[in-house]
Amino acid sequence: MPLEIVTIPCLSDNYAFLAHDPVSGETALIDAPEAAPILAALESRGWQLSHALLTHHHPDHVDGLFDILAKHPARVIGAKADEHRLPELDQAVAEGDTFYIGGDLVEVLDVSGHTIGHIAFHMPETGAAFTGDSLMALGCGRLFEGKPAQMWASLGKLAALPDETIVCSGHEYTQSNAKFALTIDPDNAALQDRVADINRARAAGEPTVPSVLALEKATNPFLRAADPAIQAHLGMENADPTSVFAEIRARKDRF
Ligand SMILES: [Zn+2]
Repeated sequence: MPLEIVTIPCLSDNYAFLAHDPVSGETALIDAPEAAPILAALESRGWQLSHALLTHHHPDHVDGLFDILAKHPARVIGAKADEHRLPELDQAVAEGDTFYIGGDLVEVLDVSGHTIGHIAFHMPETGAAFTGDSLMALGCGRLFEGKPAQMWASLGKLAALPDETIVCSGHEYTQSNAKFALTIDPDNAALQDRVADINRARAAGEPTVPSVLALEKATNPFLRAADPAIQAHLGMENADPTSVFAEIRARKDRF
């Protein structure tokens, strides 16, 4: 049975998520940018946290955890590779590890690139992936620690999930990502339609996260480095997708 997903805006442009199992009552928090809005979201629903899942160590993903745990003593799960720089973990996990939130399986993917040790959580029965700052709506995280080849491989793991997967990523960066995406893939009709939808949503004050994986695969330039039209536009016909991805990421860093 799918978990109920709640998106919680935090800080200026972060998102945290709750995944709630109505049968067992278990509730997981994914990332903890800020305590107050997360505590309010739990309280308004009468939910008690059972788990806190961390995608990576950056302060805008973990800083709210301490105050949340004071009221919700949950089981904290994060990457074994990042144990030294994450809040204290009750369970350290690595790629291929699985655990349950209520009756729903959670699979751990290593999606290093933005940081080394960044993980994503895939819930196949719920049809959701919590990607933090790896795959983002129309974008991907900046490569603070990893190399382009590593991020390209990480994005490939996420792109291989089922098309209908809901992509729950960590930031509302979509409108600025959209402007950039049009410079890489200007003739992509699906991208043009999506940008119009994004602009409408943002003008109405609505979030653009989560998104759907099929739409990311059709429009997100960081997933499309093997696409002939993008390669032609960049003057990189038949180039290795890793080097095309590296070029797109470098252009975004200068954008
Ligand atoms: Zn980050």
